[in-house]
Order: sequence, then C-alpha cells, then structure tokens
Amino acid sequence: MTAEMVAFARQLVAIPTVNPPGDNYQACAELLGNQLAKFDYEVAHVNVEGFADYPRVNVIGELRNSPAHPRLHFNGHFDVVPAGDGWTVDPFGGIVRDGKLFGRGSTDQKAGIAASLFAVEAIRRAGVRVAGAVEQSGTVDEESGGFAGMAYLAEQGYVSRDRTDFVIITEPLNVDRVCLGHRGVYWFEVATLGRVAHGSMPFLGISAIGKMADFISALERELQPVLSTRATSMPVEPPAARRPSININSISGGQPASGFQTPCVADRCEAIFDRRFLIEEPIQEVRGEIRAILDSLAARDPDFRYEMKDLMTVHPVLTDAKSRLVTTMSGAVRDVLGADPPLIASPGTYDQKHVMRLGHVDQCIAYGPGILHLAHQPDEYCRIDHMVDAAKAMALAAMRLLGTR
Ligand SMILES: [Zn+2]
Repeated sequence: MTAEMVAFARQLVAIPTVNPPGDNYQACAELLGNQLAKFDYEVAHVNVEGFADYPRVNVIGELRNSPAHPRLHFNGHFDVVPAGDGWTVDPFGGIVRDGKLFGRGSTDQKAGIAASLFAVEAIRRAGVRVAGAVEQSGTVDEESGGFAGMAYLAEQGYVSRDRTDFVIITEPLNVDRVCLGHRGVYWFEVATLGRVAHGSMPFLGISAIGKMADFISALERELQPVLSTRATSMPVEPPAARRPSININSISGGQPASGFQTPCVADRCEAIFDRRFLIEEPIQEVRGEIRAILDSLAARDPDFRYEMKDLMTVHPVLTDAKSRLVTTMSGAVRDVLGADPPLIASPGTYDQKHVMRLGHVDQCIAYGPGILHLAHQPDEYCRIDHMVDAAKAMALAAMRLLGTR
C-alpha cells in the first residue's frame, strides 16, 4: 500500500498547481475526486464563482454508508507556491530518490493529502468500519489566504460546528509534532505625505520619504522594546517566535526606482507592514499602539502628515491541549513513533483560522508528514517513511475518535 500511496502523491506533485495565479486546479481536483470515488467516497466539487481564467475548484468527499456523527474531516490544500530558482531536480517531475519524494508541494502539502487518503483506505481495506463520518477535502488558495478554499467551505457550511466535530489539517509541521494553532497577523499600510519641490532646493518641499524614515525609526525606538517584553504562553516553534514581531514588507516613495529620474522632493511614500501578534494581545491594542506612534510624531512635527489603512487581520487560534482531538492524535503519534509528540503552535497562519473563526469548529489541529523548514524551498522533498508513519497515526486517530462498529 505504501507503493500505491507514493504513486498517488507523485501524480499530485506532477500537476503544477502554482499559486499565484492558481494553475491547473481543475485537473488536480479531478485527480483527487477520482481517487476519493475509487475509495468509496461520495464526491462533490465546489466551484467558487468569479475566477474565469483560473477556476477555483475545491473537492470534498464523504465516506459512503457511515453514520452522520461524530464527524472527522481531513483537509489539505493542493495549491503550491511557485518553484523559484535553485532546483537540482524537476520541481514537477514527481521524482522519488533515496526514500524521498521530491517536488514543489511534496512537503507542503501533497504528501499530507496522500497520507490521510490512504490512512482511511487502510482501515477500510482491513475490513474495519468506523462508527462515524469521515470527510476529506482538497482545497485551493491556502498560500494566498484560503479565501476561495477553506474559508469558502466554512462559509457555505461544509465545515461547520453543526456537522463537523474534528478537523485535521495535514500541513507539514513534522511527523512527530501536533500543532494546536497559530499566531495572529495584522497587515497595514502607512502613507506619509510631503510637498513636492525641485530636488535642487529641497528646503522648499517636505520629503515624504524622510517622514517615513521618522516613522520607521520611531517603530524601532518606541515599539520594538515594548514588543520584546511580551511573550505568549502558546508553544510557538521556533521559540524566538513566541514574541510579537513587525516586518516592513514593502516600501516605495517618490519616483519609481526603475524609471527615468527627474529631481523632485517626494510628496508621497507608502509602506506595508506585517505585524504578527500574540493570542494575549487584543487587536484593538495592536492597532492602537501603531496609531499612537503616528499621532505622537504628528503632534511633535507639524509637517508630519500620514494616512493609515488596514489591509488584513487574521486572529490567532488555539485548540485546547486537553481536547479529545489533541489527546487522541497525540496518543496515536506516540503509539506509532514511541514518544509523546510535542504540542506546538505555528508562527505563520494556515487554514485553521477559517475552520475555527468561520466554521466555529473548536477542535482543529494540524498534523502531517513533511518537514516544516523544507516548505517553499528549492529541492523540497518529503521522506516516504514520514508519509507512512503519518498515515498510520492518522488511521489510529480516526478509529479512536470515531469508534468502530
Ligand atoms: Zn501549506
């Protein structure tokens, strides 16, 4: 059965579901849907309207002839980030070498999709019938926020508190760890406004770029020391990510650097900031302290004028470590690998936010094969023994969560 699982994972990797822009989603949804149908699932394809050139197609299957409750849902995203440079193998060749499956999306996270499909199939082939419902979904766009993927399934009620008891997202957080949730994200844009003047007489203008530099140094001086005193009780890995952070994602001001230049004082500068916040930090405070820094600059300097705009907010989520899903998954991993898995949280977000915030399902974790730091790298690979171990742990957890009949 390992050979079958690997063959299927190779087929998944060989479809370049690159996002952006969202290539070949239809073909991948079809492959996944056909495999689910072969494994006796009732399959639905869920199309999201408004994407004419690059259709957004999600696939969801429910194992036939099962009781409606309790219900366990396995989810994996099948979009992958662009291959990028630096590969020594074909990123979409589905190459297996030295016990590893190579390719863009092997670790993140097509191996996870194959593992959960074959975990449940192993139970079925053993003649064991679970006493609950099993669902599996393959969704799109996780790498770009998941809005046409898991968010859509949650909004449409496919994954919701009323029908779904447990959700396991098969992201690569390492085969020997169970991930309970993730930190929050607040993206915002600040524009500083200046006054244009001839570049030979800058004293006649106000440089928006200079004002942005004032703001950035105020962040360093006033915000960073405060952030470095805060720590979360969430078991975020790596531990350095247990503190809040802020990153300047982009900055542009004055004339485009790639274009022909004329001497001008820049009258506008824009920068986009990525603030990662802790479950202990209320979002109003996170926003408020940025606003306070801008306002204090404006109070001290009559030439400091700015605009601020929220771009995206993702709230932190955390499943209770004592919940049935976490204790059962941990027990299953221990029984397969011989050691208790550390319970961790992720510094970055993934689709768990949509399951919990939109679907209101309170027991959701990430568990899957694949090594986190290989995700999005050249020569990304997933070890086949990790796929097998993850599938075994998923099979045990499914039987224990749902019971057998
Ligand atoms: Zn992923």
